[in-house]
Amino acid sequence: MSDPIEDFDRRHVWHPFTQSLTAPAPMVAVAGQGANILTKDGETILDLISSWWVNLHGHAHPAIAAAIAAQASTLEQVIFADFTHAPAAHLAQRLAALLPKDLDRVFFSDNGSTAVEVALKIALQYFANQGQERRRLLAFDGGYHGDTVGAMSLGRSSGFFRAWEDLLFPVDVLPFPASWWQDEAVDSKEDEALAALDRALDESVAAVLIEPLVQGASGMRMCRPSFLRALAERTAQAGALLIFDEVMTGFGRTGSLFACLKAGVTPDLLCLSKGLTGGFLPMGATVAREPIHQAFLDERIDRAFLHGHSYTANPLGCAAGLASLDLLTGPACQAQISRIEAIHSERLKALPSGRARHLRVTGTIAALEIGDTGYGGAEGKKLKAFFRQHGMLVRPLGSTLYFLPPYCIPEPDLHRAWDVLTSAL
Ligand SMILES: *Cc1c(COP(=O)(O)O)cnc(C)c1O
Repeated sequence: MSDPIEDFDRRHVWHPFTQSLTAPAPMVAVAGQGANILTKDGETILDLISSWWVNLHGHAHPAIAAAIAAQASTLEQVIFADFTHAPAAHLAQRLAALLPKDLDRVFFSDNGSTAVEVALKIALQYFANQGQERRRLLAFDGGYHGDTVGAMSLGRSSGFFRAWEDLLFPVDVLPFPASWWQDEAVDSKEDEALAALDRALDESVAAVLIEPLVQGASGMRMCRPSFLRALAERTAQAGALLIFDEVMTGFGRTGSLFACLKAGVTPDLLCLSKGLTGGFLPMGATVAREPIHQAFLDERIDRAFLHGHSYTANPLGCAAGLASLDLLTGPACQAQISRIEAIHSERLKALPSGRARHLRVTGTIAALEIGDTGYGGAEGKKLKAFFRQHGMLVRPLGSTLYFLPPYCIPEPDLHRAWDVLTSAL
């Protein structure tokens, strides 16, 4: 009897970010193990993108799986208004302890997009609660913040949202000083971005939102930590709130636990998701500086933050988050992260010159430009197929090829990935 998975999928499943008419049939994953995905056909595929940037410690990691199983047979879910529970309280405390001082108040939601929507709504209501007319929002060119309408509005320059452009609310988009190794124009790009910021910042601005250090979806575009410090200084001076979208950069990706720590900047609001549960369960968190939370405390109900999700602070997600943080802050993980960064840098330097441009590394993320542009462009498709032949998963973003592996990737496997790239070039 033939296996019905492919047939049922073809007839009933709608896949994300996929043109199903022309895309190859999806592979059928049956198990995950370390940095590998195992398929129904007995193939082992090296996951060089951490399954859309969520996985930190490897697939099906036994410690996280056990934490979820134990929690599931104790308390699987409970309404989070009127109740709290140990996994949520502990996770909020752990996050606050790891983040810069003052980022103390954690609001849980379901994914990266909702973490951003929550930050946005908190920022706007924070000023409204104090009778201040601050409604304008600033974001950066190339920023991607999720697929809900508020997040789309803030990420409108990403080009993914043309079908809904008329619905998006206005956001002022500033130039992002994307840079790379030996980029001689970096200072002038930063000056230009800061000048645009100065022109845009006034008393009508509620918040400035940025993906700190690395813009993910628009092609792993990296900026210098010093730019974030200048941005933070100007934003604070103008009395606006600074929001860091660390949905992708959080939990060790940039080499530090969080990009804000690496940059030495404390934002007013910080968005987390993706790595929050180690890649096991969907969950988001928005962390606010305590004075922001204070502005919502009042006798009147309409001064409260009237926002929530059915599964807010789901105990299974929180348990996974705690187990993942144990691994992340344990003895092995920082060494794994440093080792990935060292291999990335060494192998990038050794690439044959010519075809690869704009080489760059931040922590566990390495990226470069090859060939033409556009999401799903021809060059990217060829590269993806080439890696696939070698049992490896990559998803080029337009002309950008990047590696963003789980931290547990064995050294020889990471070298193999760079060997395949070298021969592709
Ligand atoms: C992926 C991503 C989001 C959206 O997260 P989802 O969980 O896909 O909704 C938001 N911001 C950044 C920086 C992201 O990389």
